[in-house]
Amino acid sequence: MIQPLNVTILGSTGSIGQSTLDVINRHPDRYKVFALSAQSRIESLLEQSITFEPKVVVVPNDEARNKFTALWPTNLKSPEIKVGTQALCDVASDSGCNVVMAAIVGAAGLPSALAAARAGKRVLLANKEALVAAGSLFMAAIRENGAELLPIDSEHNAIFQCLPHDGRASAPNGSAPGVKRLILTASGGPFRTRRISELGSVTPEEACAHPNWSMGKKISVDSATMLNKGLEVIEAHWLFAMPADRINVLIHPQSVVHSMVEYEDGSVLAQLGQPDMRTPIAYGLAFPDRIVSGVGMLDLARAGRLDFSDPDYDQFPCLKLSFDALRAGQGACIALNAANEIAVDAFLNRRIRYLDIAKVIDLTLSNSVIESDLNFNSLEDVLEADQAARKYADEVITSKLNKA
Ligand code: NAD
Ligand code: MG
Repeated sequence: MIQPLNVTILGSTGSIGQSTLDVINRHPDRYKVFALSAQSRIESLLEQSITFEPKVVVVPNDEARNKFTALWPTNLKSPEIKVGTQALCDVASDSGCNVVMAAIVGAAGLPSALAAARAGKRVLLANKEALVAAGSLFMAAIRENGAELLPIDSEHNAIFQCLPHDGRASAPNGSAPGVKRLILTASGGPFRTRRISELGSVTPEEACAHPNWSMGKKISVDSATMLNKGLEVIEAHWLFAMPADRINVLIHPQSVVHSMVEYEDGSVLAQLGQPDMRTPIAYGLAFPDRIVSGVGMLDLARAGRLDFSDPDYDQFPCLKLSFDALRAGQGACIALNAANEIAVDAFLNRRIRYLDIAKVIDLTLSNSVIESDLNFNSLEDVLEADQAARKYADEVITSKLNKA
């Protein structure tokens, strides 16, 4: 009989968190929930906790703790309720859990994802911003502590599946002999066919209406600007030890081919499937086994055709800025991510316009690239640079944007 694995889900109320619970729910013999966490939507955390009976839940503050306690049914045994960022790190590294799903959005997820790596867990990494901000630190923590890293981002999960596995259960090295390029597919988002000049007045609702994937708001806006693909290029660089000029982006509007690996002999291996995150989540949970995910089978005859084209970097300046940041160094990558988080939040709150997102990132990058030679050897160094870039991006929004 298989011993069930205990899973911590950081960000359980989000899109990835909910999909993870959906997969776990199909395999009660294989997985138990150790901890759940949420920043908001405490009612949703409460419902999840009643269903999955975690040992611990983590909430952001005392107000959320009081709300959770007040709503908890008196006839049920309550989970332990912990509060704050350190508690996220604690449940990620607790000896009571084997697997950590890192599904918090943004650099806010970095400390807990790193704590899971340092504790030698199987880390299912959805939180791409952690790798963008602290790739070298994070990958070193995985290696040095015998942790297992399973990429959950669909593109990286696809590439992982298409790379040779030499028996190690951690991410295979893309620069293995014979690998020529990694090809990341991109749907092109809701504005794929619109000229950049037509996007001046698009609303957050339009930007969040992704044609193929249902996701959280931040990543939906990132998909519209294609900054998401830029973050994924940086993510692929760290996960698979691949230089920027051997990572290619290919527009594929149907989101059926999730990414590909090109080999020296002319072979290209691809992973295909429906656009549903439960496939990569199930793969990460069960690796090297395969389990039912709830995702329907792909019907290629019904899909009929698959289209591919090169991206137009003038239409998607955020994609170009991401390649620039990767080539410039870690300081630039931290600034790119931080400025984007600030800009997307301002756009969602209607403080800036859609096309301002790229401007905020560009201006923040120009301010920080000079410092990109600095070493970022600790989490504190990374968080300090992240905070400085956020502050600068805020200043850009309040005082510099309209003068640029
Ligand atoms: P989401 O906004 O739906 O959910 C985010 C979760 O994190 C929620 O549970 C929220 O309460 C929690 N959270 C938010 N801010 C927090 C903070 N400051 N501290 C602690 N917890 C916080 O996001 P999502 O779409 O599920 O994406 C999560 C991560 O996975 C992102 O990094 C995203 O880029 C990545 N990802 C998502 C998808 C997708 O299909 N949704 C695909 C690939 C990668
Ligand atoms: Mg992706």
